[in-house]
Order: sequence, then structure tokens, then C-alpha cells
Amino acid sequence: MYKALLIEKDGGPYRASIQELGDDNLPEGDVTVKVDYSTINYKDGLAITGKAPVVRKFPLVAGIDFAGTVESSSHAAWKAGDKVVLNGWGVGETHSGGLAQRARIKGDWLVALPGGLNSRQAMAIGTAGYTAMLCVMALQKHGLKPDGGDILVTGANGGVGGVAIALLSKLGYRVVASTGRPQAAEALKALGAAEVIAREELSAPGKPMGKERWAGVVDSVGSHTLANACAGTKYGGAVAACGLAQGMDFPASVAPFILRGITLYGIDSVMAPKPLREQAWARLAKDLDLAKLDSLVQEVPLSKAIDAGADILAGKIRGRVVVNVNA
Ligand code: NDP
Repeated sequence: MYKALLIEKDGGPYRASIQELGDDNLPEGDVTVKVDYSTINYKDGLAITGKAPVVRKFPLVAGIDFAGTVESSSHAAWKAGDKVVLNGWGVGETHSGGLAQRARIKGDWLVALPGGLNSRQAMAIGTAGYTAMLCVMALQKHGLKPDGGDILVTGANGGVGGVAIALLSKLGYRVVASTGRPQAAEALKALGAAEVIAREELSAPGKPMGKERWAGVVDSVGSHTLANACAGTKYGGAVAACGLAQGMDFPASVAPFILRGITLYGIDSVMAPKPLREQAWARLAKDLDLAKLDSLVQEVPLSKAIDAGADILAGKIRGRVVVNVNA
């Protein structure tokens, strides 16, 4: 038997509850993992509350990521005792996920826990932090160097935003953090932001092009914020868009693309190919200040994960929530 956060809908309203499940509830897969930690990402909040159709098969265990230890495996790459991390691949959406004490998945989806990180730290990073790394890698691949100018990070108090700030500042970039929670400005500066600006500077409808302010942008917010971020990006700069906390719309013009040659990179963590994931996790183990990561984390037991899912959508969570599924 194992405890899991189960989402049900069949024969009643959409509901989330903690249940004791038997091993016959584990889905198909060639690797069974004893989960140590999972997390609450924004998407988990949507899945737990049912506010967006993230879960598309019922009943399903929620949780788009986990870190744990292989219990048994018929996959050539993994054996009992291996420490592993999983992000995405539809886990927690169409395949039962990580908010559970046990998970069964395809071995092809797993990444080895990189040296230097334990399971809890891996889930303090979680899908949000791994996505932040994918954004940073996109900006670096574009050729942005620390002396090229400011990097804007939107949704700064969120999971993606917080890890992006810590990573970029450690790599030597000057980071400008945009937030709707100015009371957290000092914490954002401690994390590595050189400057903190109000969310309202970017979140209202703006002009097609504005003053050239950003060499690069990590945006987890979308909507007018993303449009304004593009409008304020310097000639030849780059924007990495990964989120929709403000909205899924993109009310922008082509002006910054055709007159300033800026580039918009779409960042997807769910179906990212394995070599890119391995690179991102190796970079996280090397480039993330673990003390700063720790300052972003609060830990909850599995029994509080449903509340945390509602809280992340309500904007009540700062940083990252790690779920101790065995507490
Ligand atoms: P969080 O809730 O932790 O962070 C989102 C942050 O966005 C909030 O903390 C808040 O920051 C800001 N925000 C919230 N509401 C609004 C609003 N109405 N207008 C402007 N800003 C707002 O979520 P995550 O960091 O886990 O995820 C962020 C986004 O990235 C989500 O949309 C998520 O779905 C997406 N995502 C996408 C991935 C991908 O593969 N593309 C992977 C991971 C996440 P503050 O209080 O500082 O303003």
C-alpha cells in the first residue's frame, strides 16, 4: 500500500483527496520508484483544483515531478537503488504522478540525480527550477553575456522566477526582478536581484515598442507582461517565454521582431528531449547556489499538498514548495 494524492472525476464532481492505494493501482511502466519528495508547481495547482484541464485521465495520481530511488526495473538503464528525477512527459496529466509514495513510469523518462544534489534539493528545484534553467540556457545559447545588459525576470517571487534570479546572478548577469509583491524586495535582492520593479510597469496594455531596457528576459507570466517585455528588449536581444501566470494571450505586435531583430524562444519542459534535460540538471547542480535555493523552500507533508495547490494559484506561495510524501 502507498499514500497518494488522487484526482477523481468519474461519477461525481472533480475532487482531490489523499488515499491509500494498492500496488495494483500503479500504471504501466518498466521502472518502479520509491518517491522521496515531490513538489507543488503552478501546473500541480491547476491539476489539484481542476481550474484547468491538466488531468485528462481519471482516476489519476497528481504530481508532475518527483525525486526518489528505483525499487525495481526491467529497463536496461536503471537498477534498484539508483537515485532518479522525473519531470513532465505527461506524468501527473495522463500518467499517474509523483505526489505519492510510489510511482511507476517509463525508464526512458528518468534522469539520474546529478552528483551534488539530494532528492530534497532536486525537488526544491523541481519542474519550475529546471524550466528556469532551460530559459537561462536559451538566453546563453543566443549569445547573451553578462556584460550585455540587464536581464528581466518576471514573476520573480514564483518558482521559475526565483530559481532564474539565483542562477543568472551567480552567472554574473545583472538581474531586474519584476514582482507584484514589493514587500519581498529585500528577499529578491538577497537572492541576487540588482533591482526590483513593480509588476504594474509591465502588466497593462503597452505600446508596440518602448525604450530598449533588457538584453534578455525570462518570462513566466505571459499576456501583456510578455508583450511589454518584448517591446522593451534591446536590439538583437532575446526573450525566453515559459509561462502564463498572467494569461495565455500574447497581445503583442511584430514591431520588436522586425525593427529590433529580437528573438522569442518558447520554452517547454514537458517534452524536452533527454539530452537537453540531462544538460539542464547537470548545469543546475553546478550553477545554482544551494543556500539560496534553500531560502526559497518550504516543506509540507503530503496531507497539506491539496492546500498548497490552491495556495499557489492564489499567489500565496513565495518560492518553492517541497512535498515530503513520507511525512
Ligand atoms: P508560481 O505560482 O510559483 O509563480 C508565478 C509567479 O507569477 C507568481 O509568484 C507571481 O510572482 C507572478 N504572477 C502571478 N499571477 C500574476 C498575474 N496575474 N500577473 C502577473 N504576474 C503574476 O508558478 P511557477 O513558477 O511554478 O510557474 C510559473 C509559470 O510558468 C506558470 O504559468 C507555469 O504554468 C509555467 N511553467 C511552464 C513550464 C513549461 O514547461 N513551459 C514549466 C514550469 C512552469 P510575483 O508575486 O513576484 O509577481
